[in-house]
Amino acid sequence: MIEANNPDLRSWIEVPQNSDFPIQNIPFGVAKSKKGTAVVTRIGNTVINLHQLALKNLISFDSKVFDSASLNAMMLLGKQATREIRNQVSMLFRESNQNAKSNPEVLESLLSINEVEMQLPIQIGDYTDFYSSEQHAYNVGCLFRDPKNALLPNWKYIPVGYHGRSSSILPSGVPIHRPKGQKKPNPDGLPIFGNCSLLDFELETAFFTYQGKPIGESITTDEADDYIFGMALLNDWSARDIQAWEYVPLGPFLAKNFASHISCWIVTLDALEPFRVSGPIQDPKVFPYLEYKGDKHIDINLEVAIKPENSTETVVCKSNYKHMYWNMNQQLAHHTINGCNIRVGDCMGSGTISGPNEGEYGSMLEISWKGTKPVKMNDGSERKFIEDNDTVIIRGYAQKNGVRIGFGEVYNKILPAK
Ligand code: MN
Repeated sequence: MIEANNPDLRSWIEVPQNSDFPIQNIPFGVAKSKKGTAVVTRIGNTVINLHQLALKNLISFDSKVFDSASLNAMMLLGKQATREIRNQVSMLFRESNQNAKSNPEVLESLLSINEVEMQLPIQIGDYTDFYSSEQHAYNVGCLFRDPKNALLPNWKYIPVGYHGRSSSILPSGVPIHRPKGQKKPNPDGLPIFGNCSLLDFELETAFFTYQGKPIGESITTDEADDYIFGMALLNDWSARDIQAWEYVPLGPFLAKNFASHISCWIVTLDALEPFRVSGPIQDPKVFPYLEYKGDKHIDINLEVAIKPENSTETVVCKSNYKHMYWNMNQQLAHHTINGCNIRVGDCMGSGTISGPNEGEYGSMLEISWKGTKPVKMNDGSERKFIEDNDTVIIRGYAQKNGVRIGFGEVYNKILPAK
C-alpha cells in the first residue's frame, strides 16, 4: 500500500466533514496569493505552500520545482518522486506529528483557501479527447443516426479519439462567452451565421501524463500507470449546432475549441488506487496491445448541476467514471501504438461519461434527448441546453472505508455572446 493512502491517518489540520481533501488525498495545484505563485497541496480548506516547505528543508526536495506557475517541473521528476512528496507531506501533517503543529516555519507555509486564487495547474502541451463511454456513444448514435446501428463498427475495436486544442483549456472559475459560428438549423435550408443556440457541457474526467517515451516507442497497458500523474474534472464545452454542420468529414473543430474547463486540483493516480474496480467484459475480444491485467477502472461519483442567475442549482446528472468501456491504460496504449510520443503535461479527456440509466447521461444533448425532453429546474424554468448566465458545476469524488477523495469542482458561467 502507498503509505500516504492509509485510511487510518488523521491530520492535525482541521478537515470538515465530507471534505474532498482529507490527508489521504494530497492533490497538487498552483496557487496565487499575496506571497506569490507556487506549487501547493491542500488538506481540508488549508492550502500548503510546497515551495516554502522545501526552502526550509521541511520536505527534502529541490525547492526550485515548486517555485513555478505550473506542476510540469515537478512532474518531470516522475512517479517515484511525486509519490515520495505525498508521503513526506503526509508525515508532516499527520496527527501524531505534534512537533510540526507547533513549528512556526510549518505554520508560515499555510494559507486559507479563501486567501488564494487557484491557477491552471499544468502547462498543457497536447490535448486529446477520447469517446470511451459506451452509453454516450450509443445515445449519440441513436440521436444522429439509427438505434439499430447506433455504435459504429469500429467503436469496440478502437478507443476512438481526436486531437483537441490545448490553448483554450481554462481553470475552473473563469467565465466564457457563448460562441458564435455557422449552423444549419433547417435541414432543407441554407446554413446561417449566429450565436450558438445549442450550447452544451460534456461531463468528463481528464488524465495528465508524466514525460512519456521518445517518438517511435509505445507505452503498454502494463506500463501505463507509471506514465499517468493524476486526474481532474473536465467540462468539454460543445456547440451542438455548430458541430452538426461542421463535423463532416474531419470531426470536431470550432464546436469544441472555444473553451474547455478543468478543476484546479490534480488528484494523483496514487491517491485513487484504493478505488479501483473491474471494467466491463469487452466483447469482441480486443487486440493484444489493448489487453490489460487487474482492475484498471476507478469508482468515481460524478454529478452535474446547472445554476441559473440569482437562483439555486439543480442537479441534472449523476454518473460514475466506472461506466467507461475503455480505461486509461488502454487509451494510452492505443495513443502510442503507432509511435506517437507523449510529453509531460499532456491532457487526455475521457469523453462524455454517461451511465446506463436516464438521470446518468453526461450532456444536455442526451438528458433533453436533443431538446425533446426539457429538464424541469428547481426555480420552475426549463432547460434543453445551456442558457446565458447559467453556471455549470461538475463535482466528483471517490469514497471507500470512510475515506473520501474528491476533486472539488469545475464551476463556470456562460456569459452572453460578444
Ligand atoms: Mn468531449
